[in-house]
Amino acid sequence: LSAKSQQLIDLEDKHGAHNYHPLPVVLERGQGVHVWDVDGKQYYDFLSAYSAVNQGHCHPKITQTLIEQSQKLALTSRAFHNNVLGEYEKFVTGIFGFDKVLPMNTGAEGVETALKLARKWGYEKKGVSENTAKIIVCEGNFHGRTISIVSASTDPDARQNFGPFTPGYVTIPYNNVAALAEALKDNTVVGFLVEPIQGEAGVYVPTEGFLAKAKALCEQYNVLFIADEVQTGIARTGKLLAVHHENVQPDILILGKALSGGAYPVSAVLANDSIMNVIKPGQHGSTFGG
Ligand code: PLP
Repeated sequence: LSAKSQQLIDLEDKHGAHNYHPLPVVLERGQGVHVWDVDGKQYYDFLSAYSAVNQGHCHPKITQTLIEQSQKLALTSRAFHNNVLGEYEKFVTGIFGFDKVLPMNTGAEGVETALKLARKWGYEKKGVSENTAKIIVCEGNFHGRTISIVSASTDPDARQNFGPFTPGYVTIPYNNVAALAEALKDNTVVGFLVEPIQGEAGVYVPTEGFLAKAKALCEQYNVLFIADEVQTGIARTGKLLAVHHENVQPDILILGKALSGGAYPVSAVLANDSIMNVIKPGQHGSTFGG
C-alpha cells in the first residue's frame, strides 16, 4: 500500500462509522468498466457499485444529462409539478408495462413503499381486517437495512440488537413451491416479497419454473407477487427483468440501483391502478422522490 492510500484509509477509519469493511483499494477515477486508484493503478470493476453502475462509470450521456439538468433545476420537491417528471413516469411505466410508478430514492425505500402498498391494498381491496396483514418473505433474503426490512431478514448480522422488530412476516424457504402454497392458505396474507435471484446470502438462482408457479399461486390466493428487482433488474441477468425469464409480470415491481445509472439514488415502485390508487395525497412520499 502506498503512503497516500494508507493515509486516506486511516482518515476513513478515524472519522467514519465502521459499518463496512472495504478492501484496501482507494479509488479516485472511473471510466466504463475501469477504475483507477490514487496511485494510478487500473482495475476492472467487476462489482460495479453492487450493480448500481451497470451502464459503466461516468457514462458520458448520463453525466452530461446530470450536468445540464442540475444547472437548470435540480430539485422541485413534490409540492409543485415539474416539466420532466411526467415524461419519466410515462417512459418507465411504458417500458416495464405498468399503469403507474411511485418514485423514491434508495432501494430500501422502494421496498418499504411496496410493503406499505401491499398492506393498504390488503385492507382496502382484499378485505383483511385492520393491523393483521402478513407478507411472506424468504430465508436468506436481502431487501435493505430499515427496521421493517431487517425484521424480515434471517441474517443475524442484519438483526442482532436492532429489535424490537416489525411484526407481520411469514418466512418460508427460498425456491420452495410447497412451502409457499402452504403459507398462502392464511387469508391474512397480502403479499409475497421475493428476489427473482437471491444476491446476498450467496447467489441463488431458483429452479426453473419457480417464479411462474409462485406467481400463479399468488393469483389463486389473491396475494400480490412483489418482485424486488433492485439488484436483478434493468438487464442485469440478460433480460430487462429477471422475472421475464419465466414470463412473469409482478403485481408490484421494485427497482433501484442502475435505474439512475448510479449517478444518485433513484428507486421506483411500479404497479397497476387497482393497487397504486390506494395511496392518496399525503399518505406516502419523500422530499427527493421524483
Ligand atoms: N433489494 C435488493 C435485492 C438489494 O440487493 C438491495 C441492495 O443491495 C436493496 C434492496 C437495498 O437497496 P439500497 O441499498 O439502495 O437501500
